[in-house]
Amino acid sequence: MEPTLSLSSAPRLYRPRRPERAPFYAVFHQFFDRFTREYEQRFERTFGPLRGIVPKTVERFFGCGLPEGGFARVRCDVCGNEYLVAFSCKQRGFCPSCCAKRAALWVEFVRERVIRPVPHRHFVFALHKVLRPAFRYRRRLLPKLALCAWKALSSFLHEDTGGNALPAAIVSIQTGGEFLNWHPHMHVLAPAGTFQVDGGFIHSPAFDAAVLRGLFQANVLAFLLKERMISPELVERMRTWRHSGFHAYAGEEIPDIPDALRVGLYMVRGPAATSRLRTDPAQEPKLRYLAKGAVPDHGEERVSSSHRDYDYLEWIARRTSHIPDRGTQLVHYYGAYSNAHRGIALRREVFIEIPPEDEPSDPPRPDSPRLAARRKSWARLIRRVYEVDPFLCRCGERMRVVGFITQPPAILKILHHIGRRFDPLKLPGRSPPLLDHFCPDPFPDYGPQ
Ligand SMILES: [Zn+2]
Ligand SMILES: [Zn+2]
Repeated sequence: MEPTLSLSSAPRLYRPRRPERAPFYAVFHQFFDRFTREYEQRFERTFGPLRGIVPKTVERFFGCGLPEGGFARVRCDVCGNEYLVAFSCKQRGFCPSCCAKRAALWVEFVRERVIRPVPHRHFVFALHKVLRPAFRYRRRLLPKLALCAWKALSSFLHEDTGGNALPAAIVSIQTGGEFLNWHPHMHVLAPAGTFQVDGGFIHSPAFDAAVLRGLFQANVLAFLLKERMISPELVERMRTWRHSGFHAYAGEEIPDIPDALRVGLYMVRGPAATSRLRTDPAQEPKLRYLAKGAVPDHGEERVSSSHRDYDYLEWIARRTSHIPDRGTQLVHYYGAYSNAHRGIALRREVFIEIPPEDEPSDPPRPDSPRLAARRKSWARLIRRVYEVDPFLCRCGERMRVVGFITQPPAILKILHHIGRRFDPLKLPGRSPPLLDHFCPDPFPDYGPQ
């Protein structure tokens, strides 16, 4: 049995952020059902069969930050103040809010546990256009591309600073291009030099992008041959092409750690910043997707216009194609930054901190140590990102989680009581199904107003 709320009190929602008013939410809420119905006919040829992870991720996202998806009750025992905190979906590579939180926590982890106070550089590696589609269907091989980038960088540095010193790198795999096209590429944050056994640093002042590109290309082709993903004949032919189609970008040196961490944040943030999405209810049922601002040229297709217009379903197909498969690790640490090098004890902390377990979830025991740890981490992150403490009461006392409400009838009853309205943004086109994402079996008496 879930604890019931005393209806004599009227708790508030904790900093309600109204995710359902965002265009990103509205597009999925209104058109995702139709998207899944039309997928096979319209998108399967280009995007491959619809992966199970896609509907699962989107369904969970529908409840993210919305009390309709369930919430925790937080109370101050001293003054009786109480509010409701909506659960988050914690879906990787999709939910804008959870991705932002995850990235913020990741930066904190890298600052405290990984990065060393030496100059860094930002590198990007991308592969030839004809080789990209294969990775749509063999996503488990994406980490091998990260390894190819690391091997290119480390052999370059070994050549430059001597074989005994240890390079380091953080490699983030991204699959989305400028307009959410399928474009697997690797962002790398790496020290501009190597570490000696005694802890000293040998600086490498110059990086030759053409040499890096050649090394990366050789590594990728060797790996694809080994996996039998390409024929030796194609490799031979590619060697004769005037433009290799592979890309390597080596950014300017970044002397300061805060700037390096900003690059890190950019590297791990998923595709499709929601700020780039425009919907105009007065217009055709189309979405406008804006180009990124000034970003380094790292082998994206050149585009003449600064935006593209898509119909809703096509945009959904593009966006969801970049939801990572479950279990595919997208950020890798190598050399002096690897988990092995940082030690077993540290690795345990990595396990706790990454992926971030950042908010109360729905298991029924609010006082379990696991949940206490999650809440602590969530509160710490909220403090860091928003500069407020979600467990600090207005009276100055600490508040605590007293229960989780996860059953639709109880959820609806309480939300009805506090006058909460689910009010998604309306886009032109077919109207959305009312709340059936949240409430498979709602009590008709307690439906939303
Ligand atoms: Zn209080
Ligand atoms: Zn979320």
